[in-house]
Amino acid sequence: MAIEEFRVRDAPVSSPKWTVESRIDLFIGLCAIAVSILVVIKNLVIGYYALAALISTLTAMLAVDVFFFVRSRWLPIPVPAILIVLDVAILVTIWYFGSQGALWAFPTIVGGTLVKPRGVGFYVSLSLVATVPAMVMWQGDTTMAIRLVLALSLTAGYMWFSVRKTLELQDKLMAASTRDPLTGSYNLRHLDEIADQMTDTCVSVLLIDIDHFKKVNDSLGHATGDMVLKQVSSLMFDLLGSNGSLFRVGGEEFLVLLDDHTDGQVLAGLICSRISEAEILPDRTITVSIGQVQKWRGETVQDAQRRADKQLYFAKQQGRNRVCSG
Ligand code: GH3
Ligand code: MG
Ligand code: MG
Repeated sequence: MAIEEFRVRDAPVSSPKWTVESRIDLFIGLCAIAVSILVVIKNLVIGYYALAALISTLTAMLAVDVFFFVRSRWLPIPVPAILIVLDVAILVTIWYFGSQGALWAFPTIVGGTLVKPRGVGFYVSLSLVATVPAMVMWQGDTTMAIRLVLALSLTAGYMWFSVRKTLELQDKLMAASTRDPLTGSYNLRHLDEIADQMTDTCVSVLLIDIDHFKKVNDSLGHATGDMVLKQVSSLMFDLLGSNGSLFRVGGEEFLVLLDDHTDGQVLAGLICSRISEAEILPDRTITVSIGQVQKWRGETVQDAQRRADKQLYFAKQQGRNRVCSG
């Protein structure tokens, strides 16, 4: 199981973390509620009760989502459903008020793309670019319909490109701040970040140390040592698959957090034997020693790591290239 999944499943529901994205989503949700309430009042005053009812439904849907989002980052009403109702409300507004109702398509494209940058936001933008000018044209204002096609397409295009660039940059920054550049495994900083959220989970912890690694560096050079680190971590990535996450916690020391469905002892044995069987260097066999423990519910990752470190020490004492479990 990837570490992000640990985070989603095990994060305490009562105190979800606020990220930049979640703050933007909340801001957009609150703005949409405020504007919808004003529009409902205006339609009630001028006697457009059907439109007021439709936008009231939209406001209620938004309010339910904002309430649960603040409490637990859960959206009981899916964003696509809200965007579809919003799309319909804009078309009905155009039907009542003419082409000036089309102005609402612009903030919808911007908000939809920001809240759901991948997938839904893009499709809703496309549907607005197609349906809004079509509705205006159906009302006989062809010139305005052509202007709207161009203006909405440009808005949707700019939003799509700028959000895509921002997401690419965000992914790169995320990888740079959470991963070790040499091996691609997660770094200590990321372990500290997620460890806080894992106290209530029961996972297997493996501490893996390459045996006599200093000798490799001393006799074959630092570059060969780096190559060994890469090969060892690559083998571990292959063996872990999606059942756990790999962290580099020291020069030649790694930590694995396994999900609770995977037998830590079996996997540790497999890592140990596969690395010793792999022909990483032509003139010598690379081996690892592993300390394996089961982290109890309520125990911190750091405490479990300390226990795993003791087991690793026993494995080294007993001659290396082995697993000790406790
Ligand atoms: P043991 O079997 O007891 O673990 O012995 P060891 O030689 O593996 O352990 P020791 O702690 O004595 O040496 C670890 C070495 O790892 C020392 C350090 O130069 C080397 N090292 C740490 N980080 C890196 C790295 O990023 N690249 C390379 N090539 N070497 C590194
Ligand atoms: Mg070592
Ligand atoms: Mg070491």
